Amino acid sequence: MATHKLLLLAGDGIGPEVMAEVKKLIAWMNSHGMGTFVTEDGLVGGSAYDVHGVAITEETMAKAMATDAVIFGAVGGPKWDKVPYEARPEAGLLRLRKDMALYANLRPAVTYPALADASSLKRELVEGLDIMILRELTGGVYFGEPKTITDLGNGQKRAVDTQVYDTYEIERIGRVAFELARKRRNKVTSMEKRNVMKSGVLWNEVITALHAREYKDVELEHQLADSGGMQLVRAPKQFDVVVTDNLFGDMLSDIAAMLTGSLGMLASASLGEADPKTKKRKAMYEPVHGSAPDIAGKGMANPIAMLASFGMALRYSFDMIKEADMLDAAIAATLDKGLRTADIKSDGTKVIGTGEMGDAIIAEMAKLAA
Ligand code: NAD
Repeated sequence: MATHKLLLLAGDGIGPEVMAEVKKLIAWMNSHGMGTFVTEDGLVGGSAYDVHGVAITEETMAKAMATDAVIFGAVGGPKWDKVPYEARPEAGLLRLRKDMALYANLRPAVTYPALADASSLKRELVEGLDIMILRELTGGVYFGEPKTITDLGNGQKRAVDTQVYDTYEIERIGRVAFELARKRRNKVTSMEKRNVMKSGVLWNEVITALHAREYKDVELEHQLADSGGMQLVRAPKQFDVVVTDNLFGDMLSDIAAMLTGSLGMLASASLGEADPKTKKRKAMYEPVHGSAPDIAGKGMANPIAMLASFGMALRYSFDMIKEADMLDAAIAATLDKGLRTADIKSDGTKVIGTGEMGDAIIAEMAKLAA
C-alpha cells in the first residue's frame, strides 16, 4: 500500500480541536488497513507567531512544498489583532496558497438530507444537493495590475483594478473542471460575463475550444455569471461542476455554501499544478470556517467541515474514492441518527461535543467497513 505524507497545520482557535478529530480518523484508518498515512505537525498563524515571530517559518514552508497534501485547520483570533501586518495569522495561509501556486479552489456544496431544513431554501430545492463550485484562485481582478487609487487633483480620486486572464490560466482551470466532472455527473457549467467583459469573451472562447479539443464526452454549458447566480438559488440541482473566475467564484461559492446550512459543514480543497513525473498536484485541504474564537476551547466546535476536507484529500490527492465515499456516508449516517454539534442543532436532536462527533463518525465508518 502506498504511503501518503500529510502535513497537519492545525492553526489557532478551534483549529487544533477539529484537527484532533482528523488525527483520530487517520489513526483509525492506519490501524484498519485503510491506507498508510504518515503525518507531521506544524505551526501556522498566531500559534506560529507566538513561538517564531512569523505566521509560518521557512522550515514549515519547505515541508509544505514537499508533502503529498497539507491539511489546514484555521488561523486568527483577537489575541493577534495588533501583530505587525506581515506577521498576521492570515499571512501564513496566503503564503501557502501563493508558494504552492494553488490556482484551483474546489468548494463542494452538499446538503445532507438530515440538514435540509437548515438551508435558507425550501427542502425540495436542496435535498440531495451535491454540486462543486470551482473558482480560479490566483488570477483575475484581485491580482491584476495596474491596481491603484490616483488623486485626480480636482477633489476626485480614481480607483483602478484590472481584470486580466491569459489563455493558459483559463485552460488549466478548465482542465480541472472537466476532469472533476468526469468523476462526478459529467457536466460543466462555465460562468463569465462575455456580454460586457473582454476577459469573459476570452474565457468563453478558451473553455469552448478546450472542450472541443479534449473533453467532448463531458456536457458543457455556458451561463452569464449574474443569471448563473440566480439559477443557483432558483434550481441549484441543475448544476454539477461550475467553473468560474476568481471574483465571480468568490461570490458564487459563498452563495452555494449557504444552500447547505452551516459554516461548520463546509469543506474545501485548493489544488496546484500536477508534477509532470508523478502526476501529483500540490494540494491543501481546509474547512471554509475560521478559528471561531467565540467557541474555542469549549469542545463544542463542529468537526465535520474539517473531516470532510480530509475526505477531499482522500478523493483528490490519493484517489481513495471508496474510503472518501465511506467517510461521506458515515457523516450522513451520524446526522441521520439525530446527533448534532450545537451549531446545527434542531428540535428533537441530541447535542454532542467535538470529540463525541468525531467518535460517532468513526463508529459509523467501522460499521460501513465491516
Ligand atoms: P468564523 O468562521 O471563525 O466564525 C463565524 C461563526 O461561525 C462563529 O460564530 C463561530 O462560532 C461559528 N463557527 C465557525 N466554525 C464553526 C464550527 N466548526 N463549529 C461550530 N461553529 C462554528 O469567522 P469569524 O468569526 O469571522 O472569524 C474568526 C477568526 O477566524 C478571525 O480571526 C478571522 O480572520 C479568522 N478566519 C480564518 C479563516 C481561515 O483560517 N481560513 C477563515 C475565516 C476567518
